[in-house]
Amino acid sequence: MSREQRRESGEEWYRYALTLEASQEGFWDWDLATGRLWGSNRWQSITGVDEPCTRLETWMERVHPFDKPRLEADLRAIRAGKCSKLRNEHRIRHRNGQWRWVLAHGVAAQDGGGRVTRVAGSLTDMTECRTADALTGLPNRIFFLDYLEHRMDRGRQRGDWDFAVLAVALDRFDRVNEVLGASGGDRLLMETAMRMQAMLPEGSIAARLNGAEFLVCLESVQNDAEAVEFAAQTAGAVGEPFVWRGHRMTPQLAIGIARAEATYAHPEDLMSDAESALAHARRGEPSGVVCYSRGMREQALERLELEADLERAIRQGELTMFYQPEVDLRTGRIIGFEALVRWKHARRGLLPPAEFIPLAEETGLILPLGDWGMAEACRQLVEWRTRGHAELKSARMSVNLSARQFERPDLVERVRQVLDQTGLNDGALRLEVTESSLIADAAAAAKTMRELGALGVGLHMDDFGVGYSSLHYLQRFPFDTLKIDRSFVRGVVHDRESRQIVRSILDLAKSFGMDVVAEGIEDAEQLRELQSMGCPCGQGYYFARPMDPGAISELVAARGFTHEAIPLPV
Ligand code: C2E
Ligand code: MG
Ligand code: MG
Repeated sequence: MSREQRRESGEEWYRYALTLEASQEGFWDWDLATGRLWGSNRWQSITGVDEPCTRLETWMERVHPFDKPRLEADLRAIRAGKCSKLRNEHRIRHRNGQWRWVLAHGVAAQDGGGRVTRVAGSLTDMTECRTADALTGLPNRIFFLDYLEHRMDRGRQRGDWDFAVLAVALDRFDRVNEVLGASGGDRLLMETAMRMQAMLPEGSIAARLNGAEFLVCLESVQNDAEAVEFAAQTAGAVGEPFVWRGHRMTPQLAIGIARAEATYAHPEDLMSDAESALAHARRGEPSGVVCYSRGMREQALERLELEADLERAIRQGELTMFYQPEVDLRTGRIIGFEALVRWKHARRGLLPPAEFIPLAEETGLILPLGDWGMAEACRQLVEWRTRGHAELKSARMSVNLSARQFERPDLVERVRQVLDQTGLNDGALRLEVTESSLIADAAAAAKTMRELGALGVGLHMDDFGVGYSSLHYLQRFPFDTLKIDRSFVRGVVHDRESRQIVRSILDLAKSFGMDVVAEGIEDAEQLRELQSMGCPCGQGYYFARPMDPGAISELVAARGFTHEAIPLPV
């Protein structure tokens, strides 16, 4: 080597040494023949090993027991020449007791005979990226778990269990994302994180999980009531109006609380109990705050199972539609049907919608369920018509839509497709919505309804009279029909108040030019009363229960659709 070359190569080494020093990466070199491990300064500060030359075991001793087997397997593989590169992420316990996330890269060097003689590489400290949520800057789940583990250790050592874990979720966040777009959703998450943090008492921490869920470890909690009070205050602070590019919304929180106890062995158990309580809170506890109680975890497991079952049921066609006739109370003729979904559950038999529609709404399964239901109901009516039930030429088909379906931006397009595919284009399809569908975004709801109207689809307001039943809705939204909730029909004979409500709904409908269907007519007295009040249409067990398509076919074939089809008293 010439002097010139040596100087150059010296410069190169110098450059390497400088780069090494400047780098945030630690470097290491493991000599297989001697078993010695060399680590750079940075490697030492990341791992907390305070000597440059040591043995591989010193590193391994510090690796988290959970991550160790995988790292050892990777090292074995590279040592045996089964692979030439190493990439392994693991946790390492620093001298100061803290767990750190590190990423190790390595390459194998071989001798002339192809035997691996050394493995050398880098070590990067990933703790910050692994434990901080990039969007809100809050700690993430990994950090929270680690923190909670320490906190529980303290509980065990000092008998100090005065803390609670809160699982916090922004309600209907998917809807926010739809309306405001992803960047608006991000802003809301950031704002929520800030508002939550401002509420935290000394020593407590908040972390963000995926999506719109947060976790809080709340200190100095002696009983459930104190945790609930904090939760309610936080919900109040986060629930202040949030304005983004002219959109104003009031975020709502659901909060589940699990108080720490000495019986908890793992941080995950405490977190999972808070999550179970949260699931209850989301299911409509009015205050939106629920404390964990025994049995919730089992219920959560059951729901999980049911959810998987339902998903399969939709895919494998275990759902079926029943149909209940709607009757013209003046003539006794059947004017149409309401489609009501049932689940033919392999073990539990025929399940009514109350047992699975709420779950479907919560999980989003209502969308595929609803798509299938609407198409099936339209197909069925077309089939009856073409199979010779000529009386059904003018019959209509009412299909229930839940709020989530109604809010879908592509609803109108989907309805159009179903009408085209089934050929039911004569205005026979009616969609039933409840008031809850209109509350979220009234302007969007009105637009959707106008577009559906333009397709010839009729709109029923279901369960009218319960809820707010705002007159404003009637004026604002183009409903064709009000369906009187069956709770008023039940009292129409003996309860003055119910009778008065029915009467005023009939008057209202008349003045707005809407049709009326009374739901849940169960006996002749109720029918007579409604007829005397001039109620035009009704449905109920008195005429027919919801039936499978075969039974409806038989009914139509055997008795036709004249007055006599219905046991209508004079
Ligand atoms: P809804 O739309 O108000 O349907 C009327 C409910 O009243 C039906 O219950 C029907 O069986 C019941 N009913 C009818 N006549 C009588 C009567 O004389 N007495 C009594 N006690 N009940 C009567 P069902 O089938 O259990 O459905 C319950 C609710 O589930 C429906 O209320 C609707 O909100 C929802 N639902 C049903 N099918 C679907 C569907 O395909 N999609 C969606 N999104 N929701 C559905
Ligand atoms: Mg209905
Ligand atoms: Mg109803």
